[in-house]
Amino acid sequence: MKDPSSALGGAAAGVRVSQVVQKYGGSSVATPERIRAVAARVRRSRQRGEGVVVVVSAMGKTTDQLVALAHALNDEPPSREMDQLLATGETVTAPLLAMTLIGMGVDAISLTGPQAGIRASTAHRKARILDIVPERIVDELGRGRVVVVAGFQGVTEALDIATLGRGGSDTTAVALACALRADHCEIYTDVRGVYTADPRLVPEARPIPEISYEEMLEFAAVGAKVMHPRAVEIGEAYETPIWVRSSFDESPGTVICRHPQLEDRQKVRGIAHETDVAKVTLLRVPDRPGVAAAIFGPLADHHISVDVIVQNVGHDGSTDLSFTIAESELRQAAKVVADVAAVVGAEGFDTASDVAKVSIVGTGMLNYPGIAATMFRTLADSGINIKMISTSEIRITCLVSRDQVGDAVRALHRAYQLDEL
Ligand code: ADP
Ligand code: ASP
Ligand code: MG
Repeated sequence: MKDPSSALGGAAAGVRVSQVVQKYGGSSVATPERIRAVAARVRRSRQRGEGVVVVVSAMGKTTDQLVALAHALNDEPPSREMDQLLATGETVTAPLLAMTLIGMGVDAISLTGPQAGIRASTAHRKARILDIVPERIVDELGRGRVVVVAGFQGVTEALDIATLGRGGSDTTAVALACALRADHCEIYTDVRGVYTADPRLVPEARPIPEISYEEMLEFAAVGAKVMHPRAVEIGEAYETPIWVRSSFDESPGTVICRHPQLEDRQKVRGIAHETDVAKVTLLRVPDRPGVAAAIFGPLADHHISVDVIVQNVGHDGSTDLSFTIAESELRQAAKVVADVAAVVGAEGFDTASDVAKVSIVGTGMLNYPGIAATMFRTLADSGINIKMISTSEIRITCLVSRDQVGDAVRALHRAYQLDEL
């Protein structure tokens, strides 16, 4: 992985403009009424004298619909063509918001990702922002305009469109805030900040006022979809505070920043879940050096991320090896795994998609063994079997049956008294 601190170096060094970057997600721009409400909010910021760059997502469920449309025509749509297609969602929203602003008397201009100078890697559908050349944005801001940028998209060296992965408009916004040296970045969404768990699953979940980059990165990486992990990573590298707020009301929201409230350390801050998970097991793999490298190397070459890995104790010179990947990548992964199974001499492999991950996140938890014990006890008391476990310094993840994941999240939320704070 390229060090994010170097990724926007050129842009960040050259420009100094005082302003705010606001990002509005799909549900915040889902209808003409919602776009008008967003325009009114942007106008208020502009009236306060702030220079405003706005990043927009595709309207409502547009991206999902485009994905479905593609799959109706090709089981495995080529990723370059998918990027051409998916980018159109954001490309529609940006001019709609700009013309709404202009209609309200606010000078504005829309730009696509490429026009905004967003240079991306060639890993279609999960490209990374490599650099931002913000001159055009800076020029337009200098003319007193609100600049509306289509999120989620960049341009490769070969002048192809590449998208940044689902949820990637957050990353466009934070990267622009860093490149323009904005005071902070505001992410407007359909909930009042980062909650102790997904509020759709846990009605008692509550917004967290302040969270560190480190915790938020881990939280986002294990399924807290309210922020794209890469956005948090870039925010941390440039120490740009990120506010997550509702576009539907005026509540204060959550700030993601370097200094979290100290008294909250060593506590479980939140519960995350992820259902886009599949488990792959290689059966009777010969137990000898180099096998793991032979398996995971080709998956990495295909840009397939592997996370929870369990290798069972070997008997009679062979062992079973299980790992999880995103279910959405299972079809592609299965082809790679079939090849490597043959190469390493495994007996075969099987896959399971009826699984999900549930994670607890909080700084310093591994120094407090009672925290892990509470997680395992709570799941056991709820009749939930743990299929795999993985840990980091600030996270514990359990793989469970998908149909039990809601119960698991709710039980853990109660067990760590997250509804009581
Ligand atoms: P947007 O379209 O604004 O980018 P997303 O759907 O990407 O919005 O993210 C917001 C959604 O994330 C919420 O509606 C909520 O269901 C989900 N979510 C998952 N975990 C959390 C969490 N810990 N805090 C807040 N929202 C969460
Ligand atoms: N429209 C894209 C998605 O639905 C990107 C985004 O909204 O952040 O994933
Ligand atoms: Mg999002």
